[in-house]
Amino acid sequence: MNEFLKKDKAYIWHPFTQMKGWLESDQMVITEAKGIKLIDTEGKEYYDGVSSLWVNIHGHRHPKIDQAIIDQLGKVAHSTALGLANVPASEFAQILVEVSPEGLNKVFYSDDGSTAVEVALKMAFQYWQHKGKPNKNKFIALNQSYHGDTVGSVSVGGIDLFHRVFKPLLFEPYHIPSPSCYHCQLTQKEECHMQCVEVLEKVLKEHHDKIAGLVIEPLVQAAAGMLMAPAGYLKRVRELTKKYDVLLIADEVATGFGRTGRMFACDNECVSPDLMCISKGITGGYMPLAATLTTDEIYHAFLGDMKDKKTFYHGHSYTANQLACAAGIASLEIFKEEKTIERMQEKIYLIRERLEKIGEMVHVGEARQRGMMIGIELMNDKENGVPYAWEDCMGAVVCMKAREHGLFIRPVGDVVVFMPPLCSTVEEINKMLDIIEISIHEIT
Ligand code: PLP
Repeated sequence: MNEFLKKDKAYIWHPFTQMKGWLESDQMVITEAKGIKLIDTEGKEYYDGVSSLWVNIHGHRHPKIDQAIIDQLGKVAHSTALGLANVPASEFAQILVEVSPEGLNKVFYSDDGSTAVEVALKMAFQYWQHKGKPNKNKFIALNQSYHGDTVGSVSVGGIDLFHRVFKPLLFEPYHIPSPSCYHCQLTQKEECHMQCVEVLEKVLKEHHDKIAGLVIEPLVQAAAGMLMAPAGYLKRVRELTKKYDVLLIADEVATGFGRTGRMFACDNECVSPDLMCISKGITGGYMPLAATLTTDEIYHAFLGDMKDKKTFYHGHSYTANQLACAAGIASLEIFKEEKTIERMQEKIYLIRERLEKIGEMVHVGEARQRGMMIGIELMNDKENGVPYAWEDCMGAVVCMKAREHGLFIRPVGDVVVFMPPLCSTVEEINKMLDIIEISIHEIT
């Protein structure tokens, strides 16, 4: 065991990790990265098949983002946003508004996806107080949803394994069915007329005067195992939230910045939410940064004199960090210069073709995709829909096998998640999918 791993095991408690297993096994220690590859202390290279937890877009060590951070470092790394403005944060806010769905004109910065959601929930909650409707103070959330790990974002989460233990600490939203077609329990596939939307309408009809907002991961519930909503679902949700005067909070933390093949998932269905939470890809995967975007309508509801007590009392020490905003500007410039989204389209098509074949494997229940978000669900008995036993950790075993073949990927339960950097070439995508296919074949 090298000295860094010794120190890691002596001092670090890793996120979402059973540390007993970590302490008992060998682990990679990353020292460098280049393009879409991570390099460990032994000099071994691995494809970064999950974009370093879905954040990396243009590859590691992109010269333009490197330079933007170096240039900013030569000016100032950070100054507080409490009582001060700064140059990169104001420039970046303008560009974010330009690329975001219509009507989202104001940017509230924070530092991670969970907090971007926390901010949206608090804004929605307080907004209705300013509008003279304080009883609109509850939320609707989807079953199987994941919105982060702070107490508010866990409250609107619906993944039993992660959230059950904290239940006594949380507020209770109205839960509605996940729109995932593969796991749908509301109907047979061939009879689908989006019964999940009917359930939502029932809740809205009955409780809308108590509901502040509906929070949703648009199109893909990523952390639940890349669960995909049917086309048109998001649009219907927007129509219904409008009809019943409920704010729509789009959590684009995972889906934002090109992942679905458009800049934001909402763009696929021409939906403008009332609040949009973004993080992960926002700096191209370089620096922690997040933002909650909202409308003039919501922003104006918070304006007033001090005596009105309408201020939004929320903020963090590193809000609007200058290095992170400089990286964010560079990342959005790369989107334009390298035509990232246009050039993704052939790769999305290639992945679709490859997944058709992978989906036919004996132990693959479904291989699903939205843009460059891919989930390959393993199944013990595909015909009868019988999953592997939980304790077999089949998803993790396949991912460990892939690591031996030079690809770093992470599972969600028995779903093998593949989220390559958007800049990956056709050859690189083919190579990574070869490894996934071989690993599934060798293990199952
Ligand atoms: N929202 C969604 C949809 C996510 O997928 C995640 C993280 O995976 C979060 C929020 C939380 O983001 P963070 O881990 O940056 O707090």
